[in-house]
Amino acid sequence: MSQPIADRPLMQRAFGHALDYLDALPTRFAGAPVTRKELRDVLAFPLTEQGEDGAAVLDAIAVHAARGTQASAGPRYFGFVIGGTYPAALAADWLVSTWDQNPGLFVISPLVSVCEEVAQEWILDLLDLPRESSVGFTTGCQMAHFTGLAAARHGVLRRVGWNVEEDGLYGAPSVNLVISEEAHITVDVALRYLGFGARAAHRVAVDDQGRMRPDELRRHLATLTGPTIVCAQAGGVNSGAVDPFEEIADLAAEHGAWLHVDGAFGLWAQASPKYRHLTKGVERADSWATDGHKWLNVPYDCGIAIVRDSAAHRTALGSRAAYLVQTAGAERDPFEYVPEFSRRGRGVPVYATLRHLGRNGVADLIDRCSSHARLFAKLLAKDDRVQILNEVVLNQVLVRFGNDDDQTRAVISRVQQDGTCWLGGTTWRGQAAMRISVSNWATGEEDVERSAEAILRVAAK
Ligand SMILES: *Cc1c(COP(=O)(O)O)cnc(C)c1O
Repeated sequence: MSQPIADRPLMQRAFGHALDYLDALPTRFAGAPVTRKELRDVLAFPLTEQGEDGAAVLDAIAVHAARGTQASAGPRYFGFVIGGTYPAALAADWLVSTWDQNPGLFVISPLVSVCEEVAQEWILDLLDLPRESSVGFTTGCQMAHFTGLAAARHGVLRRVGWNVEEDGLYGAPSVNLVISEEAHITVDVALRYLGFGARAAHRVAVDDQGRMRPDELRRHLATLTGPTIVCAQAGGVNSGAVDPFEEIADLAAEHGAWLHVDGAFGLWAQASPKYRHLTKGVERADSWATDGHKWLNVPYDCGIAIVRDSAAHRTALGSRAAYLVQTAGAERDPFEYVPEFSRRGRGVPVYATLRHLGRNGVADLIDRCSSHARLFAKLLAKDDRVQILNEVVLNQVLVRFGNDDDQTRAVISRVQQDGTCWLGGTTWRGQAAMRISVSNWATGEEDVERSAEAILRVAAK
């Protein structure tokens, strides 16, 4: 007799811990008021010989969750750009962990493969990107950049007769990389991973909102010949600003360059009839990187890589091995579109969330978060010591106090200690700023009001 796989009491215990955690999110302290030492004191000791009962282990971890994690899945968490998790997404993710599938190949998990295939169709439809594109579900936007830029590297070098997959970069024609001064650090990291080196990139100047300046892009491109990749951005991590894609796409086309887009969160403006004017022209790019775990509110981890030329996508990322050929080609094998070989079925929560929300639900999510960001700016600006540094076009707000770096940093740190909400700081155009990102489906107007009150209260001290 084999032993039963389901340890029901243990699973139910975990379920109880999970629901308690979720229930506490709206009222608990927003930060993680625990020190590393406190956690080490209770969690660290030499690994035992005998091991421990599963329930005891679970309890030992779970008891520290309320203080040892930030309430980043909660409604008053505005730090970095971090989404929450829809119940439908989390529930689907629980099943993904339970099934323990490796959906690299269709044969291993037809269900996960088909969910991902349909999620691909829905994403292209919702974001109104070329329907012939292929989609890979990566760990995050970092690896979505790696994926899109690997396809770009393949595409621009193939056009000049160089096979980078076989022959590598030694001796290859050099590739011009053109990115914005405000490019996210993960673009630099992807360039490193791809063997280009971050310093190789030409950095195009931006305007006062952080948008790439087309006149400056034109000036850079005029000096460059040969294979070229341009990387533009939908949603800057500070201001939320969106690059002018129509002009950038014209310039890239004139120059025969591959256009890649960092749309970690801002690409979702495409899903909203109210905001899609911001990203006009973005569909003319060749590859796009975005996240599921930010604005779509699926659990970590989930990035989405989209490539118009799906043959380039497969050639750059796919693998071939004798024991794999039985399926390759006949069905869509998800591993051909991502850097990983084995991975979790992270497209399933995306499928579940899109199906649950529908078109209107996604548009409503984008509209609500963006209008909450504007409300934040409006409430904070009532205090005459407060400056709002950016045009609030999407879900990001940059705030400065007393026009002073130290004061601004002090307010951020006091807000973190107060615990009503959590947010962080940044440097924007040489000045310290508080950075607010509204990316959680569960945030309501009253959460914004309470948080703005708390910020102004601690700022007045
Ligand atoms: C968050 C972010 C990234 C990186 O995304 P990960 O999912 O954390 O890898 C890239 N670009 C922008 C604009 C971002 O906001």
